[in-house]
Amino acid sequence: KSKETGRNALRFFDPAMQTVVLERATMEAGLRKAIECGQLLLHYQAQVVEGKRVTGAEVLVRWMHPERGMVPPGDFIPLAEETGLILPLGNWVLETACAKLAEWSRNPETEYLTIAVNVSAQQFRELDFVETVLRIIGKTGANPARLKLELTESLLVDNVEDIIQKMYALKASGVEFSLDDFGIGYSSLSYLKRLPLNQLKIDQSFVRDVLVDPNDASIAKTIVALAQSLGLGVIAEGVETDAQRSFLADAGCHAYQGYFFCRPVTVDSFEKFVREFAPEAIPLEILS
Ligand code: C2E
Ligand code: MG
Ligand code: MG
Ligand code: MG
Repeated sequence: KSKETGRNALRFFDPAMQTVVLERATMEAGLRKAIECGQLLLHYQAQVVEGKRVTGAEVLVRWMHPERGMVPPGDFIPLAEETGLILPLGNWVLETACAKLAEWSRNPETEYLTIAVNVSAQQFRELDFVETVLRIIGKTGANPARLKLELTESLLVDNVEDIIQKMYALKASGVEFSLDDFGIGYSSLSYLKRLPLNQLKIDQSFVRDVLVDPNDASIAKTIVALAQSLGLGVIAEGVETDAQRSFLADAGCHAYQGYFFCRPVTVDSFEKFVREFAPEAIPLEILS
């Protein structure tokens, strides 16, 4: 018996592998239950525009696991995508966000706030995606003009005509689109001018070292210039320091999201942040 066969035979009964399979099955059952039983929670992270107050928030989903505590989305979104659970999960996120938008719109102090929702390529691919979004907007009474859908470049490997058609259908009712994690994907730049986007979102991997890595600095500046020349807005994610913010401002990017301003927090903490984030609370040089 060869060493190879022995290894293969062994692998079949590999207890480590069995653990992985079991863990996955348990996770999947757990996630299904989490969606049904209200174990999901949204954190809100402020989006800030220079010289203005907070313009809105991006919602980021968390799983309040009964044993494991708060599970970050990186640990369960991929599984949700593989198992199709991303559809009920995504609908829950969208409906919760839209319900909050409707609530905010009834108060003049909060009616201007926008919410950005991450949408997986798989959700967007659904035949009835447009109807689903419009149904949720109608049901909750959200103002569609305050809803921003964050798409990623991974979407663009699909049937682009179909994507463009769906985007226009939603845009017609006022929904906006932001291209998330821009620059790390592999999309053709020619798509950019065909998609009815409102905003590019500079990926945090470029922001992180923008002050120390000349390549990241060039990429960040290029994305800002690209957005400007296409007539799109631009926002930087992962802004952790005032020096990064200042670099981006000099490059022409005046919208930011990141720990420097506010971490992703509960909706109550976010609302408190909005109330307290008076322009005088902004570092003075931002307002100049
Ligand atoms: P993303 O959409 O690019 O979200 C930004 C991520 O960067 C968030 O991680 C956020 O907490 C983190 N972040 C924000 N500011 C800073 C900063 O200053 N420094 C650093 N180091 N990180 C910062 P999070 O919440 O772990 O989410 C990770 C990813 O999971 C998101 O990336 C998004 O792709 C996905 N995700 C989150 N919620 C949802 C959802 O409801 N649906 C879908 N499909 N995906 C989601
Ligand atoms: Mg996002
Ligand atoms: Mg992002
Ligand atoms: Mg990112």
